Amino acid sequence: MKDTIEGFLDLVKERNGHEPEFLQAVEEVAETVIPYIVKHDIYYGKNILLRMVEPERLISFRVCWVDDSGEIQVNRGYRIQMNSAIGPYKGGLRFHPTVNASILKFLAFEQVFKNSLTTLPMGGGKGGSDFDPKGKSDNEIMRFCHAFMSELFRHIGPNTDIPAGDIGVGQREIGFLFGMYRKMRNEFTGVLTGKGMTWGGSLIRPEATGYGTVYFAENMLKTKNDSFKGKTIVISGSGNVAQFAAEKSLQLGAKVVTLSDSSGYIYDDEGIDDGKLKFIMTLKNEKRGRISEYVKEYPNAKFTKGKTPWGEACDIALPCATQNELNEDDAKTLLNNGCICVSEGANMPSTKEAIAAFHKAKILFAPGKASNAGGVATSGLEMTQNSLRYKWTREEVDNKLKDIMTDIHKSCIEYGTEEDGYIDYVKGANIAGFVKVADAMLAQGIV
Ligand code: GLU
Repeated sequence: MKDTIEGFLDLVKERNGHEPEFLQAVEEVAETVIPYIVKHDIYYGKNILLRMVEPERLISFRVCWVDDSGEIQVNRGYRIQMNSAIGPYKGGLRFHPTVNASILKFLAFEQVFKNSLTTLPMGGGKGGSDFDPKGKSDNEIMRFCHAFMSELFRHIGPNTDIPAGDIGVGQREIGFLFGMYRKMRNEFTGVLTGKGMTWGGSLIRPEATGYGTVYFAENMLKTKNDSFKGKTIVISGSGNVAQFAAEKSLQLGAKVVTLSDSSGYIYDDEGIDDGKLKFIMTLKNEKRGRISEYVKEYPNAKFTKGKTPWGEACDIALPCATQNELNEDDAKTLLNNGCICVSEGANMPSTKEAIAAFHKAKILFAPGKASNAGGVATSGLEMTQNSLRYKWTREEVDNKLKDIMTDIHKSCIEYGTEEDGYIDYVKGANIAGFVKVADAMLAQGIV
């Protein structure tokens, strides 16, 4: 019963019925992993997937802080420690008003598979808060981060749980969080990743998720003797992942025509070149402005309010914004316009129906847990450097990142190649990620 897809999903729904994003992530894994479990005696009948969908620990806490007008604000903080069978919990913190248990459980669940795929010894976790950083002053951000860490510190540690950034948490926030952790514990360790370069951060970590998403797509294109050269790229988002996915696409000779944020998207027919990308990086990272300001600087480009960029023609699409940002209609439009490759920089940006459309059309499609794993993989490399009290060069880290993305691609081929030769990267990533964690869980007994 629990080893049939329907039986398993019924049980998970019964327990988590009010958590749609989590159920979506579990369903995608169950559909590919359960048939594999049924075929393999070592996994069959052990309820391994049922154990994996239950977080080892779910921490929820109150975060009180005082805003600039002197008013007391109350937010909810979380840390979900999902699975530590292959290493300490590892995964980002998201600060966004939509954050709730369902979203964080889906992210933590995905993280377990993603981290397993990186080849590094990291378990999976995720956390965050419904705090909205938009429009907050630097001082308010600092006070919130300090308040958040004044509780979180007792649940994490460099050998227990190592958070990092995600949406709404960048180097500024990691700095404030690290400052409070160091003060509370009176120790300097690599307890967070994504740190600044002068206090334990790794070179290439800021670039890693975006670069990795492109390296993965490059590997996919290679299977068709193709490359980024001369391709038109549509990218959603304009944060850390999107910025560096764009930068690497340009370096590989492609033309990037879109970027977006929650206000809408920009389309630049002439291509967003290095200079224009610099403008966007300053606009977003320093001025914290809206993407629409691009067209004031570059009037030949157009801004479309409130829309995603999937209607624009492209060869390659890189969804780098957020979950469920690309639906079935978007997928069909992309396919009709000739898109041959989709590499997800965000976590679960394509809906289930969109993925089905990509698979039906047999185009190259990479799920985020494989293609965006470069970020957490480089976090793993940051942890290694912190433990060694050492620092690798840009080139050393970038080469390791490239090798890891190539290894993840190989694992996907090993477990995801269909009889007709089509590579189902969803199936490949899910099974490869599962096998390593399941083997560790079996070896460690029922705990
Ligand atoms: N938030 C990123 C992710 O979704 C990075 C996590 C990390 O570096 O720990 O994988």
